[in-house]
Amino acid sequence: MRKPQLPTADLDWRDPQRPYSRTRQRAMASGEAAWTRARTQVLDGLDLPRAWAGRRRYTLLLVGCELGHALACAWDTWRADPAAPARLDLLAVDDAPVARHDLQREFGEYHALAQAWPVLTPGWHRARLAGGGAHLTLAWGDLADTLPDWWAEVDGIVLDAEAPLPERAWTALARMAAPGARCAGAEVHRVAAQAHGFVPDGPATWAHRPRHRPSPPPGRIALAPTARTALVVGAGLAGAACAQALQREGLAVTVLEAGPTVAHGASGNPGGLFHGTLHPDDGPHARWNRAAALHLRQLLSSTPLPWRLDGLLRLVPESRPEDLVAQLTALALPADYVEALAPDAASTRSGLPLASPAWHYPGGGALAPADLVQQWLQSVDLRLNTPIDQCLPTDHGWAVLQAGRTLVQADLLVLAAGAALPRLLAPWDPGLAQLLTPQRGQVSWLDADTAARAARPQGPVAAGSYVLPLPDGRLVVGATAHDHDPEPALRPADHAANARAWQRLCGAPADLLPQQGRVAWRLLAPDRLPLVGGLVDPSAPSPVRATQASAWARRPGLVVCGAFGSRGITSSALAGELAAALALGLPVPVERGLVDALDPARFAVRALRRQPGVSKP
Ligand SMILES: Cc1cc2nc3c(=O)[nH]c(=O)nc-3n(C[C@H](O)[C@H](O)[C@H](O)COP(=O)(O)OP(=O)(O)OC[C@H]3O[C@@H](n4cnc5c(N)ncnc54)[C@H](O)[C@@H]3O)c2cc1C
Repeated sequence: MRKPQLPTADLDWRDPQRPYSRTRQRAMASGEAAWTRARTQVLDGLDLPRAWAGRRRYTLLLVGCELGHALACAWDTWRADPAAPARLDLLAVDDAPVARHDLQREFGEYHALAQAWPVLTPGWHRARLAGGGAHLTLAWGDLADTLPDWWAEVDGIVLDAEAPLPERAWTALARMAAPGARCAGAEVHRVAAQAHGFVPDGPATWAHRPRHRPSPPPGRIALAPTARTALVVGAGLAGAACAQALQREGLAVTVLEAGPTVAHGASGNPGGLFHGTLHPDDGPHARWNRAAALHLRQLLSSTPLPWRLDGLLRLVPESRPEDLVAQLTALALPADYVEALAPDAASTRSGLPLASPAWHYPGGGALAPADLVQQWLQSVDLRLNTPIDQCLPTDHGWAVLQAGRTLVQADLLVLAAGAALPRLLAPWDPGLAQLLTPQRGQVSWLDADTAARAARPQGPVAAGSYVLPLPDGRLVVGATAHDHDPEPALRPADHAANARAWQRLCGAPADLLPQQGRVAWRLLAPDRLPLVGGLVDPSAPSPVRATQASAWARRPGLVVCGAFGSRGITSSALAGELAAALALGLPVPVERGLVDALDPARFAVRALRRQPGVSKP
């Protein structure tokens, strides 16, 4: 596992014209000098806006961000150009990034780039720039590790690195560069650029004209690159997130929902929690949850919702506060992502006497998932009371059927039916369908009058179970978890179990038993990570590198999104972005390792690896 240590630029602004990076031990250009340099790189070097004229999408990769002037210059140019592509992807990688407050100082507090600039945690960050259409994907980490981990095809590259790049980074750049992509850099990169298929095209600029360009592995070829229409089955968090991501790309999206309302399944609880996680190994779960939580946090800042609670406490019983501090220090995660609180600080924050230390996630919190679903589906063609019982491939895409009758057809089909997913995907991947576990969950709540007399924290408190004060005065406590349990009726025993969890968490009175609640089903994959991606196409020949999920060709035009377990609020927005990226061939919002970790083909590949005599990838 990679250790998430991230050096930051650590700027000293005593000379505002040339802020000094204590990490890089050199000054950075700012103000007019930096703008001039950015215009030379972006406008002259990449020949913008001429190079994007007539295109639907344009992707620019910046190697080394400095203070972000090249990003800001590209964004300004895109906004000012009425003929600019509908979508602009700004990708950047940096091994010692500047902080948001540095950008605020340079561009002003409310500049879109500063507003979208992420918390300085290692890994990939996806944000939308104000107004939509422009997407920012920032990868913080060592260049030689980070660039090879990227799935994206780029049209322009700006090398803002003064030192020569490692060979691994150049190999990755050559793989990512679209045919004809321009690269603007400095003389120091000339020899390496030419060795990797970039031919001179001006002073310190090159055009990518490789003699041979490796094709992407079959499992990473876009599933429906030319799709104009999409069907999404399920109007929960997963379906809504996919629908809005696809609609933003100009697809005509139809959402088919079995129930009489949106969020009819697990996404219909009155409130739920969202937050990242942390783990000493910083493995796929911690990295996915962090990336997803930070993405959601940025998105929520511009999403109008009826209510949202900011900040979440996750108690860590039987731990000492100093252990939490030591863990945070080892992971070097910043306080605006997570902080360690001693019991007295956690008590002050919650308004209740708490006996345990806690993680505090300032960007975590709580919201009503149905509000998010409604927001994402507000201008989508939505068909309620439309249960789908079959999906079939057609000559040009997929058709969905009800009682043997075709209802609608489209170029792309997204299966996002929550706990009903196994039934819909069974004909297409029976092995995967069998591995998934529907899990019954019951939340309970107290009415406002009763809750007012009880142990009611000021904000959400969790530790396995959770307690959530709703703005209408109700107090939600939950939730139970029973695998393969189909009982739809509320169970008094489950209310009692939720009440006990509330007592453990917040010292609630033992005689208060909730009488109301809701039952729904989560869907769990064996490794508790979501499923996002295509299904293996059994008609394709077995690949040589069969132990790599990316080597397996997929059924065209079909994407699966779901199995969010108990973290649907956190996961959905980024999962929707990833699903749309894999379907349409857009830059993916997370590193290659996480694309693999969420790939529905991962279980079949792991089973293969366990077979005797099969070599590991
Ligand atoms: C008790 C409980 C508490 C939870 N608490 C939290 C929490 O605090 N935080 C958190 O992040 N997550 C929580 N979760 C998990 C979260 O609710 C889920 O991960 C998330 O809602 C799943 O979203 P989804 O869109 O995949 O599924 P769903 O929300 O279930 O949506 C699937 C939709 O598909 C529809 N559908 C199904 N079959 C068909 C069909 N054949 N045709 C058409 N439509 C169909 C369903 O009607 C449904 O509307 C909780 C879950 C439960 C059960």
